[in-house]
Amino acid sequence: MRSIYWFRNDLRLNDNLSLNLALAKSDAILFVYVHDIANEKNCPWGFERLGQHRRLFLSQGLAELEEKLSKSGHSLNTYVDDSVTVLADLVKKHKIDTIFCESIASYDEAKQIEGLKAQGINVNSLWQSSLFSNDQLPFDINDLPNVFTNFRKAIELSGIKPNKPVNTPEKLFNTDSITDNHLVLFNVKTIDYQKSSFPISYKDFMGGEKAGISYLKKYFNSEKPSTYKKTRNELMGINFSTKMSPWLSNGFLSSRQIFNFLEDYENKKTKNESTYWIFFELMWRDYFRFIFKKFGNNIFHKQGLKFFKAKVEHSTNNFNLWMAGETKNEFINAGMVELKETGFLSNRMRQIVASYLVNELACDWRAGAAWFESQLIDYDVYSNQCNWAYIAGCGTDPRGGRHFNIDKQREAYDPQSKYVKFWSRS
Ligand SMILES: Cc1cc2nc3c(=O)[nH]c(=O)nc-3n(C[C@H](O)[C@H](O)[C@H](O)COP(=O)(O)OP(=O)(O)OC[C@H]3O[C@@H](n4cnc5c(N)ncnc54)[C@H](O)[C@@H]3O)c2cc1C
Repeated sequence: MRSIYWFRNDLRLNDNLSLNLALAKSDAILFVYVHDIANEKNCPWGFERLGQHRRLFLSQGLAELEEKLSKSGHSLNTYVDDSVTVLADLVKKHKIDTIFCESIASYDEAKQIEGLKAQGINVNSLWQSSLFSNDQLPFDINDLPNVFTNFRKAIELSGIKPNKPVNTPEKLFNTDSITDNHLVLFNVKTIDYQKSSFPISYKDFMGGEKAGISYLKKYFNSEKPSTYKKTRNELMGINFSTKMSPWLSNGFLSSRQIFNFLEDYENKKTKNESTYWIFFELMWRDYFRFIFKKFGNNIFHKQGLKFFKAKVEHSTNNFNLWMAGETKNEFINAGMVELKETGFLSNRMRQIVASYLVNELACDWRAGAAWFESQLIDYDVYSNQCNWAYIAGCGTDPRGGRHFNIDKQREAYDPQSKYVKFWSRS
């Protein structure tokens, strides 16, 4: 069989189930990455969908993937274009039988698959981005609990365990290569990320599978996992949380790989509430993925999942002040400056600036989600949309949304104003 392997948010050779399947079925294979042209256009809120930080992180990872494929006798063919058009042309040009790829349960990505199938192209897409696979779940996806705690309890009671990660398939090295000799690299600007909690200009924090795995090893060789729960709400620095999300979101690492290291750490070093909490957070990640599967595009609507009737207003002026970090609140401004300058923000600060936008500035949560999409290096459609909806009362929060007291948050998490001073513009 002649195949295309279409890399999407799974830019790795290890623990890539869909890639393994493609190689197992193929005699000859063409590796493709399409940077969809939609990402080069502005979003409906009027700014770029893909900002410079994620663009840089992604391009670092793509360069590494291309190098690894070259070393194994293949090439990565990259395009900036409409995904369906490029893939359909390649199918014809190279007499391809099947396109293999990972399945993504979000609107634009599902439409791409529909577009290919509508042209009579065989597409084999496999769901692989969650810790637990679909068929491990102890319920039908339509019966997924609408509250996280019930999901977590059902998972824990069932006793299911994530599958072990798989290695790069040997067959990569003895499958014929098809090439289209096409490599388009992004225009990227490298700046100094010295102040960032995830400094992508440094070797240890670069995009790509190599840096991701090396970081994973270092993290689980340290004592950090055993204090994670105590530090995870801090605002600054590289040590307070696992910092896995940028590699996870771009698919340079899989959550099964992280779980595997975590389990090993618990067996050989320490097992405590903190190590459990890393698993707990990975379950949140899974939960939001499955919410997309259950509710489809509803999560993009103004009222989100419609469990509650949230008041959704919008003030363009307030939104612009928030994005620029020029609101009346210096704590919020510090967070927005950090996000804009580095592409990273702690979970605590994400919650605080989101609550401020929705509750104090009376803005549409979907605009906030779009700004995060543009800026975050760890942008992930499921985690981003569902966390925003949760805070706005349009998602799965059983309390109908979160309204933080910003002064109290500042007292608790930045009592000496270190964070505010660090990110203050003046
Ligand atoms: C408004 C808002 C928007 C967000 N947008 C994104 C996003 O686009 N991409 C993204 O990966 N995360 C998002 N998050 C979740 C969370 O803030 C980040 O995953 C986390 O801060 C990343 O840092 P870390 O890897 O050090 O996390 P850790 O605290 O070390 O957590 C370990 C892992 O658990 C998962 N995780 C942790 N918290 C959450 C959560 N609340 N929801 C889902 N998964 C979680 C992540 O995969 C993370 O890497 C968002 C949160 C909020 C409140």
